[in-house]
Amino acid sequence: MKLVFLGPPGAGKGTLAADAAVDLKLSHISTGEIFREAVRAGTPLGLKVKSILDSGGLVSDYLTVELVKERLAQPDVSGGWILDGFPRTIPQAEALEIFNPPERVVNFDVTDELIIARLAGRRTCPSCKRIYHVTNMPPKKDGVCDACGAVLVIREDDSESSVRHRLVTYRRQTAPLIGFYEVKGRVLTIDAAGSPSVVYEGFRKALR
Ligand code: AMP
Repeated sequence: MKLVFLGPPGAGKGTLAADAAVDLKLSHISTGEIFREAVRAGTPLGLKVKSILDSGGLVSDYLTVELVKERLAQPDVSGGWILDGFPRTIPQAEALEIFNPPERVVNFDVTDELIIARLAGRRTCPSCKRIYHVTNMPPKKDGVCDACGAVLVIREDDSESSVRHRLVTYRRQTAPLIGFYEVKGRVLTIDAAGSPSVVYEGFRKALR
């Protein structure tokens, strides 16, 4: 199965993608995570994209498409994948149609107010990448990852100004993808307002 997860920042794409990948035995590919990892490791790619990520803007289509094309050509993803955060623009979606079209596009429906509340409380594990929320999904021990014991961090682009910029970018550049895939009959819209387990249930029902 080849799935694209489409939705604004804070819609819960990463959380659902991690669970769905285990459940459905698919590879979870997050372009945001690939970029953040490159920034952490200080690679040439990381140095190039750091300021773009911090401001909440988008990395160029060319660079992002090349990265995904390479990733999808690797043998470990041949059993199927979930693309989380890609495509984010019409040119990216057009490119993906040419080299590896998705079968289903899951559209996460959620309001701006909920997004802002979710992102303000989001904490992530820099080591195993698990995602938590201080009130909705807290770790067992405050500030520490349940799975690997690393100290949880706040993503730099979860600052209020960056979140606002990411939302505007989403509405302008990414939301038009819903129409792009709707005319191809591939969109499944799910209500992403509930808890992760409720959203997951909605996702499995939509997939049937
Ligand atoms: P995410 O983790 O999906 O919220 O992505 C974090 C950041 O990585 C975004 O705000 C962008 O700066 C960058 N990014 C991730 N995916 C893409 C993409 N498909 N196109 C351009 N920039 C991206």
